[in-house]
This record gives sequence, C-alpha cells and structure tokens, in this order.
Amino acid sequence: MQNVTYNFSNKVVVVTGGAAGIGFKLTTSFLEAGAKVVVWDYSQQALDTAQKELGKYASQLHFAQVDVTKRDSLATAITALPWSVDVVINNAGITKDKSFVKMTDVDWDAVINTNLTGLYNVTKGLLEKFNSSSAHKRVINISSVVGLYGNFGQANYAATKAGVIGFTKTLAKELGRKGFTVNAVAPGFIKTSMTNAMPKEVLDGMAAKVPVQRLGEVDDIANACLYLASEQASYINGTVLSVDGGIVL
Ligand code: NDP
Repeated sequence: MQNVTYNFSNKVVVVTGGAAGIGFKLTTSFLEAGAKVVVWDYSQQALDTAQKELGKYASQLHFAQVDVTKRDSLATAITALPWSVDVVINNAGITKDKSFVKMTDVDWDAVINTNLTGLYNVTKGLLEKFNSSSAHKRVINISSVVGLYGNFGQANYAATKAGVIGFTKTLAKELGRKGFTVNAVAPGFIKTSMTNAMPKEVLDGMAAKVPVQRLGEVDDIANACLYLASEQASYINGTVLSVDGGIVL
C-alpha cells in the first residue's frame, strides 16, 4: 500500500500502549514521519523489545513504563517528560471477554479502569503539558466498532469503547476553542500477533464477512491517526472515524 507522506518534525506524540500491537505501529509511523514519540506502556518486556527495534530513532524517542490506571505512575511519567506535547493517542486498552451472565466484577472493573479511567487519567494529566503555542493540538482516542454496535461477550469492553466516544465528543466541544481537535478512531477487526496465530480458514471466514474482503492491517489504523493528527485535519473535530472495511454495513 502506498502511504501518504506526512511531516511531523518538531511535533511530539504520546502513544499509550505504544510498545505493542497497533500502538507500536503508531509509534513507528509517527517516527518515520519525523515526530518525537513518547512511548508509554505497561509491559516492560514490550518496551525493551521496542527500544531495541527502534534503535535508529533513539534521539526521537522517550520510553516509560506507565500503568494508565495508576495516577501516581502517570504523575511520575508526566514529570519526566522531556518535551511538551502536540498529540496524544489514547491507545492502551484491554479485553476481558465473557457473556454478561458469566462476567465477574473483576472482569468489569479491569476493563473500565484501563479503557475508560485510563483515558481520563492520561488526558487530564497531559492537558497542561501540551505545547501552548500550538494551534494544532490533537487528542486521538482509540475506540472500536464494538463501541458503536455492541458485541456478544463484550459488555464491559463495549461500554468502555462507547464511553470513549462520549468522552471524545464532549472534549471536542470543550477544548476546540483552546486549539485542540479531539477525535476517535473505531477499528474493526485488525490483524495483530494474536490473529496471526489463528488458523487461516478462520481468518479467511472473517475476511469474507467484510465488504472489502480483508481484515484490517495496523497500517490502516496508523494512516487514520496520521491524518487526524495532521494540520490538514484541523476542521475535523468530535468525529468517530470507522476503520473497519464497512463490516457493519
Ligand atoms: P495490544 O494488547 O496488542 O497492545 C496494547 C498495549 O497496551 C500492550 O502493550 C499492553 O500491555 C498495553 N497496556 C495494557 N494495559 C495498559 C495499562 N494499564 N497501562 C499502559 N499500557 C497498557 O492491543 P491492540 O494493539 O490490539 O489494541 C490497541 C487498541 O486498539 C486498544 O484500545 C484496543 O481496544 C483497540 N482495538 C483493537 C482492535 C484489534 O482488532 N486489535 C479492534 C478495535 C479496537 P500488556 O501487553 O502488558 O497488557
């Protein structure tokens, strides 16, 4: 796929969950576009691997182990930030899937705390760290197709991903006058290391249900985020950009 070229030199992008999966692709895409990237991730192992893999971008990178659910962990990371911020991508998210009848309080609390309270903690904590002179401040929140349409076995996850959308629209209204745009991206079913381990027939069956006849790639999400973060998207505010091949049509 031919990627559109963006220039994010002199911009700083914070990516939560930025050391693995979709977040790692976001990290590499923004680095390639010239940005400095702050990678916050819970997994020290993923951080170490990412740091090794991205060695050639060392001067553009800052890594920290952060648990977005823990305000003290975040406060430490925010104090240690080497740069002021232009873009935050709230990407860290987890699932704990079970039918509602079987879902436990632990499953519910874990998903709400990470996907929703984590979103609040990071955005609130970073608000004062944005580059005040920038007219192009960006908050991009990763929701899900499940937040728009629901999904069996994901009452906790769907509630958070719908919550992400309400949060996005409200912040878009409140922060627009302060030079921010706030948008959400709602991925469909995206190929990650987890799906790569699934049998080909299962993946083909899933792809057949998508009007464009393929599963999503992490590049599809990165391309949407690059666009929303760019100056070209400065009149897009409070939207939910579905990146799902039209699966729900
Ligand atoms: P991954 O699990 O591959 O990566 C998420 C990263 O976030 C991991 O490194 C994970 O660490 C980290 N993380 C988890 N909890 C925390 C926390 N409390 N604090 C900081 N970091 C944390 O997920 P995906 O790349 O698949 O998903 C990324 C986002 O995209 C999520 O918000 C997800 O809901 C959303 N999404 C994904 C879809 C898909 O098909 N993959 C579809 C729709 C939406 P650790 O490994 O230690 O848990």
